[in-house]
Parts: sequence; C-alpha cells; structure tokens
Amino acid sequence: MLDSTMQPRLIRQLWLASVLTGSVLLTACGGGTTVASAPVADTPVAAPAPLPAPAPVATAATCPATFTPLTQPEVDEALFMREEEKLARDVYLDLAAFWRAQAGDVPVVKMMNNIALNAEQSHMDAMAGVLTCYGLTDPIDSAQTHGVFLNTELASLYQTLMTRGQKSQLDALYVGGFIEEADMEDLQKSIDLSQQAYTDSVYASLMCGSRNHLRSFVAQIKAVSGGYTAQVLTQAAVDSIVSSPSENCGAGF
Ligand code: ZN
Ligand code: ZN
Repeated sequence: MLDSTMQPRLIRQLWLASVLTGSVLLTACGGGTTVASAPVADTPVAAPAPLPAPAPVATAATCPATFTPLTQPEVDEALFMREEEKLARDVYLDLAAFWRAQAGDVPVVKMMNNIALNAEQSHMDAMAGVLTCYGLTDPIDSAQTHGVFLNTELASLYQTLMTRGQKSQLDALYVGGFIEEADMEDLQKSIDLSQQAYTDSVYASLMCGSRNHLRSFVAQIKAVSGGYTAQVLTQAAVDSIVSSPSENCGAGF
C-alpha cells in the first residue's frame, strides 16, 4: 500500500526546504526568464496558448500562459508524482530485463517494456513539464539512474517491488497491478489537491494511462491464473475499471 504517502510528506517538506532556498517560487514559463535549475528548463514553450481543455491532452511542453504559484501541498505532490512515475518506469524496465534474461520475450517482458517506453517515460516527462513551469527543482538526477529516488519511501518501494517481481512472472504481473493501483490512488490525491487547470489536466492524463495499464496487467493475470485480487484500491473500483473498455488517453499516455 502507498498509504505511507501521508508520512513521507513530512520528509518531502524537509528536503524541499533545502532545495527551494530563496528564489524559485515563480517565473513565467515562456518568456526567457530564469527558471531555477531544472534540467529541462530550456524546453521550448509554445506562445501563450489556451489551456489544453478538456483533458487529457497535456505534454511536457504545455505551460499555462498565466498562472499563480502552486501551494506547498501542490508542490509536494508534483515532486512526488514525478518520482512515482519514475518508479513505474524503472520497475517495468528492470523487471523486463530480468525476465527477458530468464525466459526470453514472454508476455510480461513485452508488456512492461511497452508500457515503460511508450507511457511511463512520457508520464515522467509530463511531470518534468509541470516542475519546469513552476520553477521547481527536479528531484531526479539528469541521468535518471534506475532505482535511485530522493524520496526514501519510493526508494524502498523500488527494492520491495523488484524482489517480489523476480519471484515469478505472475508476481511480476501483480507488481504491475500494484503500481498502477497505487498510482491511481496517489493521482486522486494529486487531483484533489490541484487547484489549477493545467495540473488537473496532467494528472487526469496520467490517471487515464494508469487505467489502461491496469486493464492490461489484469487481463494477463486473469489469462494465466483465472482472477485478480485488488491490492490498493477496492475490488469494486478495480472491477469497474477492468470491465470498461480501454481509453484513448492521447499520445504518450
Ligand atoms: Zn504512469
Ligand atoms: Zn502506468
């Protein structure tokens, strides 16, 4: 469970205080003003354009023309989700590599590679776009080293999930289900905290992607074991998602 997201928020505040010394709170996103030290700060931003409404169409380069600073809870949430999307990407790529070495291109290898490369990387990029817009320092190192997280909870969760996912291919699929369910629970918190259309849109896009990924993992788990037991969300919530059709979440989501 990621219910532990409550407690580490304190930890996040602590390091945030050191990361955000002075300056940064807000600069305009497109006008050549300085934006903290975020590595993607030079991402070209289209001229002031209307917000991408309705969701889900948000990209790393989409920045609202005018906005107000995020509240501290929104900042914490954005930094956390940036790393949580990395957790998904890292676990999928690393478990795919592990199982490919063991068993070749089995379904879990193809699924995890596909989801990581075609979606989770984009989800990370979308969150990088949010950080850039608001002048926040990226918690992820520029090499995006696998398994490395500033958030200690995510660092330990990575180890836990890698250990479980190497036990069997079915366990690996269940790790996929866990990540997507936890992602949705956390994204719902993000959406509840978000007070701006732009961040609403990004989180909604990520959530849409997570629903599709959960559908994929659960379908495969059912195919090999006959059923799926919810791990983070309620069984009713999971059943409702997986019994509805896949959605078009936009490119990269
Ligand atoms: Zn994701
Ligand atoms: Zn996902």
